[in-house]
Amino acid sequence: MVYGLISDIHGSLEALEAVLAELKDCDTFLCLGDVVGYGPDPEACIDRVRELPGLVCIAGNHDLAVVNRFDVTSFNDYAREAVFWTQRQLSSEHISYLDSLPLRARAADAELVHGSLPNEMDYITTTWEAISCFEAMAGSLCFVGHTHVAEYYWQRDRSGVAEQQALSSGGAVSLADDLRYIVNPGGVGQPRDGNPAASCGIYDSESRAVEVRRVVYDVESVQAKMREAKLPEYLIKRLAVGR
Ligand code: ZN
Repeated sequence: MVYGLISDIHGSLEALEAVLAELKDCDTFLCLGDVVGYGPDPEACIDRVRELPGLVCIAGNHDLAVVNRFDVTSFNDYAREAVFWTQRQLSSEHISYLDSLPLRARAADAELVHGSLPNEMDYITTTWEAISCFEAMAGSLCFVGHTHVAEYYWQRDRSGVAEQQALSSGGAVSLADDLRYIVNPGGVGQPRDGNPAASCGIYDSESRAVEVRRVVYDVESVQAKMREAKLPEYLIKRLAVGR
């Protein structure tokens, strides 16, 4: 089975469409959360994600904030403003959909969580943070999002150190049978690893290979829509630099 991996779409329909064109040969899709927040097309992104074949989708912190299940006082001013704006755009049916998303799931032979396994909304940005996720893993593979940074971590044995490899320019990883992995396919709608191209992944469960691909999309169109919607300038500008 070939799985398309998407995360942190954040209401960017142009980035989502570009990524889905790249993933057109995938049999089924795993979405690691934050379909909405920041971007100008939250409803259209929810609709597009929902129709993906075999979709397994978990909730991110922005999805939960929009349905009032995550405390926005922990968000910066721009993110909070975008959450309130997003709430005003969504029908009650779309709100119900976000509200229905689970915090974690199992699919393929992997665990799925937005942030990290001990706490769904923790960030994995260091090998130390990866180790606490490894400790909570039941199997040998976990897919995460949340940081908008394409990368992977691996660990040889449960008590051992973890190593990290960036995938900001894309790249393929052959999963070794004797290692454990945490893979972040990067952010679709708001990459933060210095590469403004949308990020996505492909997991082939038969050949045990993960590939991250970076896809150039029409950033200016998204920025124009955000200006029209009067979303914060800081959020508009960062799309062009991928930070
Ligand atoms: Zn996010």
